[in-house]
Amino acid sequence: KQQKVQSEKIYDTQCPYCSMQCKMQLIEQRVISRKKHKTVGKDNPTSEGRLCVKGMNAHQHALHTDRIKQPLRKVNGEFKPISWEEAYQLIVERYQEIKRIDGKDALSVYGSASITNEEAYLLGKFARVGLQTRHIDYNGRLCMASAATGANLTFGMDRGFTNTLGEIPHTRCIILAGTNIAECQPTIMPYFEKAKENGAYIIAIDPRETSTTNLADLHLKNKPGTDVALASGILKILIDLDLVDHKFIQQRTEHFEDVKKYIQSVNLDTIATDTGISLDDLYQTALVFGRESSGMIFTARGVEQQINGTDTVRSFLNLLLVTGKIGKKYSGYGAITGQGNGQGAREHGQKADQLPGYRSIEKEEDRKYIAKVWGIEEQTLPRKGVSAYEMFEKIIDGEITSMFVMCSNPIVSNPNANLIQKALKKLKFLVVVDLFLSETAKLADLVLPTTSYLEDEGTLTNVEGRVMLREASYPIQGEAKHDWEILCDIARLLGKGSFFNFKNAEEIFEELRIASKGGKADYSGITYDRIRKKQGILWPCTNCNTAGTERLFETNFAHENGKAKMAVIPISDTKKPSINNEFPLYLTTGRVMSHYLTGEQTRKSPSLAARNFEAFLEIHPDTAELYGIKPDSLVRVTSKKGWIIVRSKWSTSIRRDTVFVPFHWTEKQNVNRLVDDTLDPYCRMPGFKMSTVRISPIN
Ligand code: SF4
Repeated sequence: KQQKVQSEKIYDTQCPYCSMQCKMQLIEQRVISRKKHKTVGKDNPTSEGRLCVKGMNAHQHALHTDRIKQPLRKVNGEFKPISWEEAYQLIVERYQEIKRIDGKDALSVYGSASITNEEAYLLGKFARVGLQTRHIDYNGRLCMASAATGANLTFGMDRGFTNTLGEIPHTRCIILAGTNIAECQPTIMPYFEKAKENGAYIIAIDPRETSTTNLADLHLKNKPGTDVALASGILKILIDLDLVDHKFIQQRTEHFEDVKKYIQSVNLDTIATDTGISLDDLYQTALVFGRESSGMIFTARGVEQQINGTDTVRSFLNLLLVTGKIGKKYSGYGAITGQGNGQGAREHGQKADQLPGYRSIEKEEDRKYIAKVWGIEEQTLPRKGVSAYEMFEKIIDGEITSMFVMCSNPIVSNPNANLIQKALKKLKFLVVVDLFLSETAKLADLVLPTTSYLEDEGTLTNVEGRVMLREASYPIQGEAKHDWEILCDIARLLGKGSFFNFKNAEEIFEELRIASKGGKADYSGITYDRIRKKQGILWPCTNCNTAGTERLFETNFAHENGKAKMAVIPISDTKKPSINNEFPLYLTTGRVMSHYLTGEQTRKSPSLAARNFEAFLEIHPDTAELYGIKPDSLVRVTSKKGWIIVRSKWSTSIRRDTVFVPFHWTEKQNVNRLVDDTLDPYCRMPGFKMSTVRISPIN
């Protein structure tokens, strides 16, 4: 029998999960003495009211009773609640002691791409001005660093999408390289479905058949790790058949002759053998992409999370440049960011090598500008630190002795989890700011409760570079504080209060606007009021009278001479692991629709956990039979770095030489335990997408 709703409240908010940042409403109904909740989509220009299953259930973790409600200090191995005053006093005492004994660079900060722009900005300032350490980096280093570096090297700047989502339905040809949008950012899919309805030819590159590849006209199911070879084969055919735009190449790009010379040495038969893609399919891809009047290429973690991820991205960008399919209507590039603020969080200074506005920490004029905005002497601004994974190596070496982790779970998300665990245990002082006692928080000396997406206010920049405002709407749970408040409080107690005198997120955004002015990611023309009126503004936006920039590079690229830089990407340069008798299968990793990142939030949601309650090993039935693996049976998967135990899932959608495990689980189900820690030489990202393993049944 339907129970009568006594009262109803509606809270406007924005999904905390993927980079689409769908607008939504939490509906809270009082029925007798109980509160009932549901989340529904809210109309807006990008997600158009759509939500996926994660968004529909996002309130379940935010309202979960496991939320940490007050600071927790570990005493004799047990967490005890303490007051904020006691927590802050402990931080200040320990930081001053560590700084005195080990030096200021012994302090480190580990950030996140799920926090707001304001918090990402403030975290960078907190590390460099509050703690005066060079060691800050964030979990985006594991996620989209190669796409960002590839775009910076090629175009001179990195806004993930060069065009708006709205242009996708009108393009004639789409290459989806290593992206499973249907599972990872489901509400973007209708843009591609509309393109297909309008007659676009879609080519998907992925070792697995997925709901995304099912949309494609042509699926290139290549061997993991062979994406550079694949792109080089397509490039060679484009050049050999003269399907290139000579005028565009001559006027808008550099280094074409070097690329052309190198590509002559490439043998298409070898590429076909190495990639597992037939010559016919290579030709079909090049012919369609080269001949169509417009085209777009989208990359994601499948090609980016490689030990040569930057080169892989650049090899796909070469295809856009030779065909002149960029800087034009319905032609361009998109890196499909995974994390909620994957774009904005990489622009404002929480990266080891970067200052706000996408400025460089090593460039003198950038250092001077930011020092002036912050009111400090340029000489006191620390230099570049090391990348996220390398910070843990420095802990093992004894150079870093303390870490401040904000809204991240590095023990699950990094490769070589055994090393990360050893490093975190070795720290003299670990502080974790989080919603829950995550796997990382459990190792902390002090855990500080933060506010959820429902309670926190700030801007996030979505997948296409649109700066969106998420207003605080729901009452704060327990004694939780906003991330920015925690940073300001600690900085004040460290004697740096005058640099952190903010009363709300908007005041931080006002400083961010100035700090970003003239930088590559210029937000100076964006205000909270303008975002509210326009439902989001695309950066760069250099003054309050412009609408923002919908399409990039229409006349110039962002390098000083205005030209894009093609790159010679030698296929043979990468020393990737290859399968052998000891490790005879490729392992690739990825997401499932119902979970987000390390699953810390989504595993708390009963509805989402019920959809996928454990990790699994996707394996071709022929391969499974070869190794004696029955369907739904437990399997040990072993690599050079470690082992895990997961349940088998037979599927003909995967290559026979490859297995797949999603990465949202912990402990013995954490597939990142198997991943090698070799880093991309340019962006320092590990190669999550390809390891070699052996498998055995557990009887
Ligand atoms: Fe939208 Fe992404 Fe949230 Fe799904 S997870 S509702 S696609 S923002």
